Amino acid sequence: MIYLDNNATTEPDKNMINAVMEVACQWYGNPSSSHYYGQVANDLLDQNRSTVAAAVGCKSNQIIFTSGGTEANNLALNNKNIICSAIEHPSILNTANHKTLCRVDSNGHLDLNHLEDLLKMPRHNQVCLSVMYANNETGVILDPSLEINKLKAKYGFVYHVDAVQAFGKGIDLALEDLGADLLSLSGHKIHAFKGTGALFFKDPSLVSNLSFGGSHEFGLRPGTENQVGIASLAHMCDKITNNQFYQSRLQNVATLRDELETKLADISVVNGNIDHRLPNTTNLSFEAIADVDVFVETLSDLGVFVSGKSACSTGLAKPSVTLEAMFGAADPRLHNSIRLSLSVNTTATDVELACDLIREAVTIICS
Ligand code: PLP
Repeated sequence: MIYLDNNATTEPDKNMINAVMEVACQWYGNPSSSHYYGQVANDLLDQNRSTVAAAVGCKSNQIIFTSGGTEANNLALNNKNIICSAIEHPSILNTANHKTLCRVDSNGHLDLNHLEDLLKMPRHNQVCLSVMYANNETGVILDPSLEINKLKAKYGFVYHVDAVQAFGKGIDLALEDLGADLLSLSGHKIHAFKGTGALFFKDPSLVSNLSFGGSHEFGLRPGTENQVGIASLAHMCDKITNNQFYQSRLQNVATLRDELETKLADISVVNGNIDHRLPNTTNLSFEAIADVDVFVETLSDLGVFVSGKSACSTGLAKPSVTLEAMFGAADPRLHNSIRLSLSVNTTATDVELACDLIREAVTIICS
C-alpha cells in the first residue's frame, strides 16, 4: 500500500511509541498529586512543555496542551469577533463566533486588499484575525511575505495562526516575524498520537476558557493532562528541533513531491502557487477525470491512498471549499482534483509506484 494522505494523519513514529511506553506504564501518576509519583509526572509534564515550547520558539508558560488542532483553534477563537480566510479548516469556519470571510486568489493566497478593506470597517470590539499558515488541501502558504504582521501594526488586531499543517514539516515558522499572538498545532500531523495538540498564547488574557475546572494548564484548559499523548507530541517536537537526521528526511520530502509532479505533468496540473507551499503537499487536477470520488475509490482499490477533499469533509456531497474559493463554484477542477500528501516515511519507490498506479486508475476510469 502507498499512503499519500499524510495531511489527514500520519503514521505514529516507532521510536516515539517505544519512548512513551515508559510514561504509559511506569510514570502514570497524576501530575497534580503531591506524592513522589505525582511529582515525577509533573516534572515530565514540565519537561515536555519546554520541549514543545522550544520547537514553537516561545516560553514554556506560553503553551497549553489540548486534545488536538480542533480544540486549539476553538480555544483560540472563543469569545472573539473573527475575520478569517474563506478556506480555513472547519474548526475555524464552524465555530459559533461572528465571522467575516476574507477572499483568497486563484493561487490560494490571501487577498490582502480585501483583508485591508475588512479591517477598515468600523467595529465595536477588537477583531481577531485567524489565518491558517498553510492550507490543508493545496499546501499553499496564505501570507508568504508576512504582510499580515504589517497590517497588524496598522490596525491592532489579535492574530491567530492555525499552523496545524505547517508545524513540524521543515518550515521555519519564525513566530516573531509572523507576529502571531495565538498559534495552533496538532500532534497527529507530525507522527505523534491522535488527540494531542497545543495552543501557543502570547499572553493569558488572550485566551477565554472553553471548559471549567481545576488549575491545570494555567487554569485555561482544566482537566487531568493526557500524559502519554503529551509525551508523544514532545518526542516529535524534540526530533523536529534537535535530530539532524530527521531534519534531513524532512528536507527530502519536497524533492519526492516534485518528482511526483514531474512524473504526472503530462496528465495533471498543479492547483495553487507552487513556490510558496508546504514541502509535502500537492493538489493535482486531472482533465480526464469527471468524478473525484470515483478516482479516489479506484486508487484505493489499487492500493494508493489519497484524498479528494479534506478528511473532515469526506462524506459530504459538497466539493472542496478551498478549490471553490480559489476557482469559483463552476470550475471543473472542483470535481477532478486530488490531494497527495507525503511524509518522512514516503520513499522514492512509493512515488514511482504511485505514479504508475495513478495512470492505471485514469486508464480504468476512461476506458
Ligand atoms: N487545522 C487544519 C488546517 C487541519 O488540517 C486540521 C486537520 O486536518 C485541523 C485544524 C484539526 O486538527 P485535529 O485533527 O488535530 O483536530
